[in-house]
Amino acid sequence: MADLNLILLGPPGSGKGTQGERLQEDLELPYYATGDILRGAVKDGTDVGLKAKEYMDRGDLVPDEVIIGVIADRLESGEADHGFILDGFPRTVPQAEALDQKLGEISRQLTAVILIDVPDDEIVRRLSGRRVCTEGNHVYHVDFSPPEQEGVCDIDGSELIVRDDDNAEVIRNRLVQYHDKTAPLVDFYDGQALLNRVDGSMDPDRVGEAIRTLVSTLSLEEGT
Ligand code: ADP
Ligand code: ADP
Repeated sequence: MADLNLILLGPPGSGKGTQGERLQEDLELPYYATGDILRGAVKDGTDVGLKAKEYMDRGDLVPDEVIIGVIADRLESGEADHGFILDGFPRTVPQAEALDQKLGEISRQLTAVILIDVPDDEIVRRLSGRRVCTEGNHVYHVDFSPPEQEGVCDIDGSELIVRDDDNAEVIRNRLVQYHDKTAPLVDFYDGQALLNRVDGSMDPDRVGEAIRTLVSTLSLEEGT
């Protein structure tokens, strides 16, 4: 049986977290969202958190070596030995090259990269209304995906907050960073015949269906 080693790629606010949560439930694979991991590190005041905070506050990418180390630790830990879902990593070509090298060392390879495609004006609407829970990183939107009770997570009851970097100025910079440093990964993975595009501008259920269909096809091809 082959494993599913998946990457969710897409601009900030495209729905990687929303869809990652669903995919993780469907596939029961370890799910590594680097933004969540980094915010946890900042909260805990770890070395990685101290290094990452200033970049995150500005909407810049944290240095490659910091985030590559974080992912390498997860891949070496054994918990991802039967597949994984990466959300928000890689975000630069050097990160993608480091991932290829790391996977090669442990005789693994990527199954697919799922690009969630969303235009910039939609991104701004999504990020401006995003709310996240303080306990489990569950994601909501004030208009598109509101919680049952305002300000409270449906799933774990924790408080919903606005992320520090979801303000107009930082959103603008995150989009610049995406187009400048992350978008080249579309060609990078297309060149490896790994890229699969999903129209992320549909409603979350339809995007989820499109991803589910894609993953079923991949599973059949991989014989899982
Ligand atoms: P990312 O992890 O890519 O930054 P999120 O999953 O956090 O994106 O989604 C960003 C915001 O957009 C959240 O407020 C989320 O509720 C909302 N959202 C996600 N997918 C959709 C969608 N298909 N249509 C409308 N809003 C969405
Ligand atoms: P988004 O909603 O933009 O998808 P994330 O939660 O994935 O946000 O990431 C938040 C921030 O964490 C980014 O703006 C960046 O500063 C940092 N970050 C997350 N993943 C990476 C990565 N792979 N490389 C560099 N920085 C990262």
